Amino acid sequence: MKIKRIAHLGIAVKDLDPAKLFYGKNLGLELKGEEVVETQKVKVSFIKVGESFLELLLPTAPDSAVAKFLENKGEGFHHLALEVEDIEAAVAELKAAGVRLIDEKPREGAHGSKVAFIHPKATFGLLVELVQSSH
Ligand code: ZN
Repeated sequence: MKIKRIAHLGIAVKDLDPAKLFYGKNLGLELKGEEVVETQKVKVSFIKVGESFLELLLPTAPDSAVAKFLENKGEGFHHLALEVEDIEAAVAELKAAGVRLIDEKPREGAHGSKVAFIHPKATFGLLVELVQSSH
Protein backbone atom coordinates (compact mmCIF):
# COMPACT_ATOMS: atom_id res chain seq x y z
CA MET A 1 0.00 0.00 0.00
CA LYS A 2 1.04 3.59 -0.35
CA ILE A 3 0.65 5.90 2.62
CA LYS A 4 0.78 9.54 1.53
CA ARG A 5 0.82 11.53 4.77
CA ILE A 6 -0.56 11.93 8.25
CA ALA A 7 -4.07 13.12 7.42
CA HIS A 8 -5.08 14.07 10.95
CA LEU A 9 -4.91 13.38 14.66
CA GLY A 10 -8.24 12.77 16.34
CA ILE A 11 -8.83 14.29 19.78
CA ALA A 12 -11.86 13.27 21.86
CA VAL A 13 -13.52 16.20 23.65
CA LYS A 14 -16.56 16.69 25.88
CA ASP A 15 -17.34 20.11 24.42
CA LEU A 16 -16.27 21.53 21.07
CA ASP A 17 -16.38 25.25 21.86
CA PRO A 18 -13.62 25.51 24.49
CA ALA A 19 -11.40 23.20 22.39
CA LYS A 20 -11.98 25.33 19.28
CA LEU A 21 -11.22 28.43 21.30
CA PHE A 22 -7.92 26.97 22.50
CA TYR A 23 -6.72 25.63 19.15
CA GLY A 24 -8.14 28.50 17.12
CA LYS A 25 -7.38 31.44 19.37
CA ASN A 26 -4.57 30.42 21.72
CA LEU A 27 -2.64 28.42 19.14
CA GLY A 28 -3.78 30.59 16.23
CA LEU A 29 -4.75 27.65 14.01
CA GLU A 30 -7.35 27.83 11.26
CA LEU A 31 -10.75 26.25 11.94
CA LYS A 32 -11.87 24.40 8.80
CA GLY A 33 -15.49 23.53 9.41
CA GLU A 34 -17.63 20.99 11.17
CA GLU A 35 -19.74 18.04 10.24
CA VAL A 36 -21.73 15.24 11.81
CA VAL A 37 -20.56 11.79 10.76
CA GLU A 38 -23.68 9.69 11.28
CA THR A 39 -21.96 6.33 10.81
CA GLN A 40 -19.57 7.07 13.68
CA LYS A 41 -22.01 9.05 15.85
CA VAL A 42 -19.67 12.00 16.20
CA LYS A 43 -19.55 15.66 15.35
CA VAL A 44 -16.12 16.54 14.03
CA SER A 45 -14.42 19.90 13.85
CA PHE A 46 -11.34 20.24 11.66
CA ILE A 47 -8.36 22.44 12.47
CA LYS A 48 -5.68 22.96 9.86
CA VAL A 49 -2.05 22.47 10.86
CA GLY A 50 0.11 22.87 7.75
CA GLU A 51 -0.58 19.89 5.49
CA SER A 52 -2.41 17.99 8.22
CA PHE A 53 -5.34 18.50 10.52
CA LEU A 54 -6.49 18.03 14.05
CA GLU A 55 -9.94 16.46 14.25
CA LEU A 56 -11.90 17.30 17.38
CA LEU A 57 -14.40 14.53 18.09
CA LEU A 58 -17.59 15.07 20.06
CA PRO A 59 -19.93 12.09 20.51
CA THR A 60 -23.53 12.63 19.35
CA ALA A 61 -24.98 9.56 21.09
CA PRO A 62 -24.25 7.71 24.35
CA ASP A 63 -23.42 4.51 22.42
CA SER A 64 -20.84 6.26 20.24
CA ALA A 65 -17.37 4.72 20.45
CA VAL A 66 -16.06 8.18 21.31
CA ALA A 67 -18.54 8.48 24.21
CA LYS A 68 -17.20 5.21 25.60
CA PHE A 69 -13.65 6.41 25.10
CA LEU A 70 -14.38 9.62 27.07
CA GLU A 71 -16.00 7.60 29.84
CA ASN A 72 -13.01 5.28 30.18
CA LYS A 73 -10.07 7.52 29.44
CA GLY A 74 -11.28 11.11 29.50
CA GLU A 75 -10.46 13.74 26.91
CA GLY A 76 -7.37 13.44 24.76
CA PHE A 77 -5.62 11.76 21.87
CA HIS A 78 -7.96 9.26 20.20
CA HIS A 79 -6.57 8.18 16.82
CA LEU A 80 -3.98 8.76 14.13
CA ALA A 81 -5.27 8.97 10.55
CA LEU A 82 -3.02 8.02 7.64
CA GLU A 83 -4.03 8.92 4.11
CA VAL A 84 -3.77 6.06 1.63
CA GLU A 85 -4.08 6.15 -2.12
CA ASP A 86 -6.43 3.16 -2.39
CA ILE A 87 -8.23 2.12 0.77
CA GLU A 88 -9.83 -1.02 -0.70
CA ALA A 89 -6.39 -2.29 -1.66
CA ALA A 90 -4.88 -1.27 1.70
CA VAL A 91 -7.55 -3.13 3.68
CA ALA A 92 -7.27 -6.20 1.45
CA GLU A 93 -3.50 -6.20 1.90
CA LEU A 94 -3.74 -5.96 5.71
CA LYS A 95 -6.41 -8.67 5.83
CA ALA A 96 -4.25 -10.97 3.72
CA ALA A 97 -1.37 -10.34 6.14
CA GLY A 98 -3.58 -11.32 9.09
CA VAL A 99 -3.58 -7.84 10.65
CA ARG A 100 -6.41 -7.32 13.12
CA LEU A 101 -8.86 -4.73 11.80
CA ILE A 102 -11.85 -2.99 13.32
CA ASP A 103 -13.34 -2.44 9.86
CA GLU A 104 -13.07 -5.36 7.47
CA LYS A 105 -14.57 -3.08 4.85
CA PRO A 106 -14.07 0.67 4.40
CA ARG A 107 -16.97 2.82 5.56
CA GLU A 108 -18.03 6.40 5.13
CA GLY A 109 -16.01 9.08 6.93
CA ALA A 110 -16.10 12.88 7.06
CA HIS A 111 -16.18 14.95 3.84
CA GLY A 112 -17.27 11.93 1.77
CA SER A 113 -14.02 10.12 2.53
CA LYS A 114 -13.68 6.36 3.01
CA VAL A 115 -12.15 5.13 6.25
CA ALA A 116 -11.17 1.87 7.95
CA PHE A 117 -9.75 1.46 11.44
CA ILE A 118 -6.92 -0.88 12.39
CA HIS A 119 -7.18 -2.45 15.85
CA PRO A 120 -4.81 -0.96 18.49
CA LYS A 121 -3.67 -4.50 19.30
CA ALA A 122 -2.08 -4.64 15.84
CA THR A 123 -0.44 -1.20 15.98
CA PHE A 124 1.31 -1.31 19.36
CA GLY A 125 -1.36 0.65 21.13
CA LEU A 126 -2.56 3.28 18.67
CA LEU A 127 -5.97 3.41 17.07
CA VAL A 128 -5.05 3.97 13.42
CA GLU A 129 -7.53 5.15 10.81
CA LEU A 130 -6.77 4.68 7.15
CA VAL A 131 -8.48 7.31 5.05
CA GLN A 132 -8.89 7.81 1.34
CA SER A 133 -10.01 11.33 0.62
CA SER A 134 -12.88 11.96 -1.79
CA HIS A 135 -10.90 14.45 -3.88
ZN1 ZN B 1 -10.35 10.57 12.01
